Amino acid sequence: MVISRHITGKIRSARYAVEAVLIPFYLFLPWLRWEGHPWIRLDIPARKFYLLGNIFTPQEGYFLHLFLIGMGLSLFFFTTLIGRVWCGWACPQTVFTDLFDWIGRTVLGSKYGKKDAPTFGKAIVHFLWISVSLVGALAWISYFADPYEMINDIRTSSFWLSPPVWVYFTGFFTATLYADMAFVREQFCKYACPYARFQTVMMDADSVNVTYDFKRGEPRRKAGVQEGDCTACNLCLVVCPTGIDIREGVNVGCIACGKCADACAKTMGKEGKKTLIGYFSENQAKRPGASIRWIRPRSVVYGTLLACVLIAAFVLLYGRAPMYANVLPDRIIQPMEVPGGAVRNFYNGNLLNLTFEKRTWNVSVSESTLRSPVRILMGGTEVPSIQVEGNGSENFRIILETHPEAEDLLIHTHKISLELQDVLNPKNRMKKTVPFLIPQTGR
Ligand code: SF4
Ligand code: SF4
Repeated sequence: MVISRHITGKIRSARYAVEAVLIPFYLFLPWLRWEGHPWIRLDIPARKFYLLGNIFTPQEGYFLHLFLIGMGLSLFFFTTLIGRVWCGWACPQTVFTDLFDWIGRTVLGSKYGKKDAPTFGKAIVHFLWISVSLVGALAWISYFADPYEMINDIRTSSFWLSPPVWVYFTGFFTATLYADMAFVREQFCKYACPYARFQTVMMDADSVNVTYDFKRGEPRRKAGVQEGDCTACNLCLVVCPTGIDIREGVNVGCIACGKCADACAKTMGKEGKKTLIGYFSENQAKRPGASIRWIRPRSVVYGTLLACVLIAAFVLLYGRAPMYANVLPDRIIQPMEVPGGAVRNFYNGNLLNLTFEKRTWNVSVSESTLRSPVRILMGGTEVPSIQVEGNGSENFRIILETHPEAEDLLIHTHKISLELQDVLNPKNRMKKTVPFLIPQTGR
């Protein structure tokens, strides 16, 4: 594992500023409430996803698909334009590495990362690393379990005797984060992270990335003879958190953190020159003074696809009814003819209320292949309706009855569309089409 040398500079300060926003955002987001409900939570046991006052269910899996496709396309689009900016500036692996390094340096000073660092100091560093890993793991778990309930769990007397399941997951993620930060770090970026591979393939010679100006820099200074501007101070090498040499060209290990750019700015500053390493494209390094080509086939294709996905998601969200209903023919009670000549079919249904208030849905027949009128029998109510508690679900039973006309009797299976409409917001409606069977016995 590489413990790189600390470096100050403009990029380092900017990244600290970004991390100062990202870390609290990550830690406190699950605590935020939107009208009393979580801003974000994936409740796996209840199979619900809460986002900004909305509840999504697995039945709306197309949103998940759009989200994943959108994330993939964003990665392609931004990587094509600005290289591995995600890795260097926002990836939790990088952000936590900086945090853990800061702890190490604060406790051990210049001895941090050195073999002769005092044992007691190292023990304190590892203790603090484990504590931060625990906080990080708790924050991660609170995206899946209610953090307020987690606190209540801790207060209960049975907590230590029979811990809730989230405790085991917290233990697992604490150990994983600690092991990653204390022993793995850049090895994960280099050998395990799939995004690193993806992003390297997505870049081209016009992508803005951390690049070495080889035209100015080479050939490097050797034995006091300087031909190019690079003084061969190797500061860019020793500050690199992944232990690579940016002067060798694009490397899958480079996370675009810009530490080498800050390092070179220091060295070159002493010589009164501009840094040899910075955020520019390979083509700009080849042709000094060339401007960045933002618009090119790749960026246009990825940008267009991303825009299509965003528009589709927006349209679907706008037209979304916060409900889910299912209606199926009763498997036990078969369609039957009742005294008086009416035919009845029986159905079982379930209605999910994806709002946080108690709502009532009226049920009506919107379409039918029967010529005769269809009556809905639901628990003896005048207007067939279903009432469901906020964020709840309700099973219901429907009987459809008709006095079939002669033409209706010629067809065995008819189709009836039932419409469920939210009384409070009639825009929220859902149609369910069910089969209606005419019993053939004795006809
Ligand atoms: S080469 Fe530079 S930008 Fe890339 S990881 Fe190393 S220090 Fe960061
Ligand atoms: S920091 Fe700059 S001058 Fe020093 S070795 Fe690296 S590229 Fe050369």
